[in-house]
Order: sequence, then structure tokens, then C-alpha cells
Amino acid sequence: MPVKPKLGQNFLVDTGASQRIAASIGDLTGRTVVEIGPGRGAITEALAARAAHVVAIELDHELAAGLRVQFLLDAAARVTVVEQDVLQFDFAAASAAAGERLLVVGNLPYGITSPILLKLAASHASLDRAVLMVQREVADRVVAQPGSRDYGLLSVTVQIFGPAQRLFTLPPSAFSPPPEVHSTVFRWRFAPRFAELGVEETSFLRFVRQCFHQKRKTLANNLRAAGIPPSTVAAALAQAAIDPQARAEALPIEAFAALWQWLQARGADEAAPCSESA
Ligand code: SAM
Repeated sequence: MPVKPKLGQNFLVDTGASQRIAASIGDLTGRTVVEIGPGRGAITEALAARAAHVVAIELDHELAAGLRVQFLLDAAARVTVVEQDVLQFDFAAASAAAGERLLVVGNLPYGITSPILLKLAASHASLDRAVLMVQREVADRVVAQPGSRDYGLLSVTVQIFGPAQRLFTLPPSAFSPPPEVHSTVFRWRFAPRFAELGVEETSFLRFVRQCFHQKRKTLANNLRAAGIPPSTVAAALAQAAIDPQARAEALPIEAFAALWQWLQARGADEAAPCSESA
């Protein structure tokens, strides 16, 4: 069967790595796990040996058909193959059917990593934790801490939904065909911080996007560009003891939340950050 590069088809051929990924999600006894992009079933097998139920979401018709045959003789019917685009998958319905928050595992199709991460974030109420393999540089950005080279909008967007931890990295030779990049597995525990930080999810995420809007600009410049008066921006940064020349890349999530609360309390949130110019 020809490989489809557009679907990110780099299949894991390192069986030790498949076992390690399945083990990284933790105890699967009695649990339902959703696998994103099962492909030829390398990780699916390892998951099926541990979990009560594996829901394997594969977009490729031929691969989905192959998986159905591969797991046909599984007497416990532990693997359900869903032929669907994962971006359309209803995690809430699957969670309701399972009667629990879901575990998610996937060697992701790298071309749609960001949309998948956003989809999982939007489905957080239905999810417990995820173990995901992505391009190494993307994982570096996901787990990065403030002030580091890789910290940015992706780090905040993921970490606001819960802690992300780098696990291990695989070389191109672990896959067939080998990709041009290294791959890193990370764990993401869904524990959104909006209530703890006292911010509303949608408007806060919009505000954060605005803060990072132009990478080379200072935070103050990005806020002014969003329509917040210069005097208000200056006062907001001063009360939070943030350097007027600071970039968003230097700020921890707590500082974004404090700034947003302060601006909302003064009605400055009625400027552009809420009108999605970002
Ligand atoms: N899990 C397998 C492994 O590790 O060998 C395959 C991983 S491969 C990197 C990505 C898989 O995702 C492919 O099987 C591909 O067909 C599938 N895929 C691509 N886009 C998808 C989408 N939108 N929804 C579901 N599966 C998708």
C-alpha cells in the first residue's frame, strides 16, 4: 500500500518505542483510550494489550480497513476503528459513551499538529491526559518556560489547559519512511487553570494571542496596536511591575492573567483584544 506523505504517514517501526509510548500514558486497566492516527497499528497493539477499549481514529480508508482486519480476531473487541478526520471527532460523545474522561495517545500527523492540539484543548472537559508524539521543535515550544528561546503563544495555549512534560525523543530511523525531523513524545495532563487564575477562557485566550501578535514587538506595542490607550498600557505594566520594554515571551501565564484582570477591571478590555484583530 503506497504511503501518503500528505497524511503524515511515517510509521513507527521501533517496537520498543511503541511499548514505551503505550506505557507512558500510565495504568490503562479498565480504561478507554482514544488513539489518533493508528496507521498500521504499531501503537494500537500495545494499547489493546493494556486497555479495556481502544477507539482508533484513522482518516485513511485503506489503513482503517487494514486495522479492522488486524483486530478482527480480538475476542474482547477491544479495538474500535473509526474512519474519520480526528478534527471532526466528537470527544464529548465518546467520553459520555465510555462513562469517564478519556485518555488520548497519538503519533500525530505532523502537518496538522496545531489544529489537533487546539481540538484537544477545546475538548478538555472530556479528557484526562494525553501522550503525543510531535516534531521535536514543536515539543520544545509546547513545554518551554518563560524567558527561554522556545517560549511563546503555543506554550501558553497548551500549558493553560494543564501541565505538559517532555518524555523522550526518537531519531528518524525509528520510522518508515524516515521523516526529515526528530520526534518527541510529551505528556499533557488536562487541568485547565482559568478558574484558579480568575479569567474567562475565550476572552483570555484572545488577549494572549494579541500579546504575542507581532513577534518582534514589545508587549506594550502589541497592546497599543490592539487599541488600548498608551497611558492605560503604561499603567497596566507598571502596576504589574513589568518592564515597559518586555516582550510577551518573558511573561509567565500568571502575569498575563493579572494584566488581563487589571485591564478588564478598567474597561480597557472593550478595546481590540476582544474584537479578534489578532
Ligand atoms: N500510529 C502510527 C504509527 O505510529 O506508526 C501512524 C502514525 S502516522 C505519523 C499518522 C497517522 O495519522 C497516519 O496513519 C495517517 O493516515 C493518520 N492521519 C492523518 N491525518 C489524519 C486525520 N485528520 N485524522 C485521523 N488520522 C489522520
